[in-house]
Amino acid sequence: MKTITRNAYAKINLGLDVTGVLPNGYHEVKMIMQNVGICDTLTFTERDDDRIVIETDEGILPTNEDNLVYKAVLLLRKLTGNEQGVTIKLTKRIPIAAGMAGGSTDAAATLLGVNELLELGLSREKLQEESVAIGADVPYCVLGQTALSEGIGEKLTPVACPPQAYLVVAKPDIYVSTPVVYKKLDAKEDYEHPDIDGMIEALERKDLQAIVDRLGNVLELVTIEDYPIVAQIKKLLVDNGALGALMSGSGPSVFAIFDNEETAKKACEKLAQADLAKQLFVTTFQNGENV
Ligand code: ATP
Repeated sequence: MKTITRNAYAKINLGLDVTGVLPNGYHEVKMIMQNVGICDTLTFTERDDDRIVIETDEGILPTNEDNLVYKAVLLLRKLTGNEQGVTIKLTKRIPIAAGMAGGSTDAAATLLGVNELLELGLSREKLQEESVAIGADVPYCVLGQTALSEGIGEKLTPVACPPQAYLVVAKPDIYVSTPVVYKKLDAKEDYEHPDIDGMIEALERKDLQAIVDRLGNVLELVTIEDYPIVAQIKKLLVDNGALGALMSGSGPSVFAIFDNEETAKKACEKLAQADLAKQLFVTTFQNGENV
């Protein structure tokens, strides 16, 4: 049986702004999306029937049509009419419900992986365009390179990738509801917006300090109000040598940027000792086409 394996990388937001609300309640965003080295691994194997079978080492995830991987296969079937069965083995490492697009990146890897496995002949551009039906972050995950994301997430413009740096990523053991965060942000009168255009210029110049100076996420206003642990994690990492730190997406994951691997590892150890977050990673930016 033919088998294909792909890594599906997590994302962080170097910048996240909300610029409006559409009549249907969706939020218009302006975000800088960046892959990091934390990944899930998916193995796709042809079956001799028409079933979609998901096997995963992460017991709390659904293996039916509620899994975004399953939805991705259903989308391919809708686009091509090909109902060949497939077994998908999902090894999960990206923290779940963390603001790191874990489900979306798995869906993107599935679109690309099953397209190749079953020789469906769909282009990356077509998959990118259609994948917003699965979720707003999926088109970015199909693209797989540093990008400005606008609209509800489907309008993507590749931008320059950041220079080499070391990251600590921490996910505290709390659950944040994304719709609640956006609703609470709508109720806020006036707030400071991150300099997304300045971030794009800083990326073009590969200027790590300028990138750090422009880190900003409007959703922190809401999430940190409800969960001060997010601010505590940021402070601990900055106090221990990070150039800067920011929450990713609607949280609760936090990432911190370092120019030195040793310092990043030591700060991560400090965070472990302080017991503020159980899921901890030392990683790097993942640049290029990843999914
Ligand atoms: P985003 O950054 O796009 O908001 P997230 O990191 O907050 O994503 P995910 O980890 O993608 O959130 O998952 C959120 C929910 O989606 C979980 O409650 C989970 O049950 C469901 N889900 C469906 N498929 C997957 C998958 N393959 N991996 C992770 N979660 C999945």
